[in-house]
Amino acid sequence: APGLPPARHLFSDPAEIEALRRNLLAWYDKCKRDLPWRTLVRGGIGRWKCCMWVSEIMLQQTQVATVIDYYNRWMQKWPTLQALAQASLEVSIAGTRCFPCSHGSSSNTVPHLLEQEVNELWAGLGYYSRGKRLQEAARKVVSELAGRMPRTAEDLQKLLPGVGRYTAGAIASISYGQATGVVDGNVIRVLCRLRCIGADSSSPAIIDRLWDMANALVDRSRPGDFNQALMELGATVCVPKAPLCGECPVKQHCQARCRKLFGKSVTEPDVEDCGKGVGGCTLCPPATEPWDSSLGVTNFPRKAAKKQPRVMRTATSVLERRGCHGALEYLIVQRPSSGLLAGLWEFPSLPLSQGLQEEKQREVLADHLQAWTGRPVAARDLRFIGEVVHIFSHIHQTYVVYSLSLDGDVTLDPASSPSRWVTEEEFHASAVSTAMKKV
Ligand code: SF4
Repeated sequence: APGLPPARHLFSDPAEIEALRRNLLAWYDKCKRDLPWRTLVRGGIGRWKCCMWVSEIMLQQTQVATVIDYYNRWMQKWPTLQALAQASLEVSIAGTRCFPCSHGSSSNTVPHLLEQEVNELWAGLGYYSRGKRLQEAARKVVSELAGRMPRTAEDLQKLLPGVGRYTAGAIASISYGQATGVVDGNVIRVLCRLRCIGADSSSPAIIDRLWDMANALVDRSRPGDFNQALMELGATVCVPKAPLCGECPVKQHCQARCRKLFGKSVTEPDVEDCGKGVGGCTLCPPATEPWDSSLGVTNFPRKAAKKQPRVMRTATSVLERRGCHGALEYLIVQRPSSGLLAGLWEFPSLPLSQGLQEEKQREVLADHLQAWTGRPVAARDLRFIGEVVHIFSHIHQTYVVYSLSLDGDVTLDPASSPSRWVTEEEFHASAVSTAMKKV
């Protein structure tokens, strides 16, 4: 048909689709990993659905191995959706919970407290707004949707904050049995290899194609297991650098493997690439990046070259004092509630312009601290400790670290960020980022 890509990029044979589903599910039943969110259902069906939701949100952009501990701690604290929503409602209405936070009036401090707990549990997992949105969504389910979770991918995405296309598909298929596909990084890799898709796999047009493919492939009777199997295959067998093709349950359906072994496609024995610009194929690699036989199946998928990360320098001041019990205490302040590391706590920090000399840096920081604490701070009293580099996904951040000892209490400008003094132990238990722990 006009506009349809060549057969090597499609799943058009119903018998092949059936065989692929069968092989993949048989492998999954035998080999799936024992993950905590797959352990059914001590607390009943509602608890199972909550487990899936929390795990799917945590797994966005984060590896399984990292998520497991966070997930276990979270589920211990808020084992059901109702528990999370209820805790959130309780603190915002009645102010019954207490948390060692020393700012704000009781009326506006209290809703902040649960967020604080969420942030503390989330600290180190990254993409902090996910935890906050999970809490908002739980509250919405309980207070606006009468405790009833939306059940289709469409409704989940429409009604719940923080639930995007992937998470909606995962919850709808795994928890509610909707025959809808999912596309995450693992699925992208597997599908691109299965069908020799070499066009930029981060482009919206290719992502849409992959969603169509995932929706067509998903097993109608076991959609949740099928989706998990496809992701599991990408995570454990069809891995980015050295895929284990010999052990792969769907190797006989894989165009990339066939191309590697025989130099040609399964369905079109005489065709190498469909030839973008020649055959007009938008799914093949661009003509400028032909098949590289040294890469084998890892020719797929391809991505556009990554943007260079933004380079930033930030002066960070570790202010310390001797607390009333003689222990050293450090001042931490809270970041704004949106943007990078939203709502987390950090040592007082100040972004620096590029190319600022060390002496000037120190002066700028001293001025800032002076305005903020309302007492004189001499630049020479700031002790340079060293530099800490932390790479965020899109930012190459250098923290230039100074320390300053203070005598007596410091009254902070109430108009500035919320702040508190913490011991070293309290610091580590607080919602601070990995970067601040390095500092
Ligand atoms: Fe991936 Fe190899 Fe399996 Fe193809 S055969 S899907 S490249 S592991």
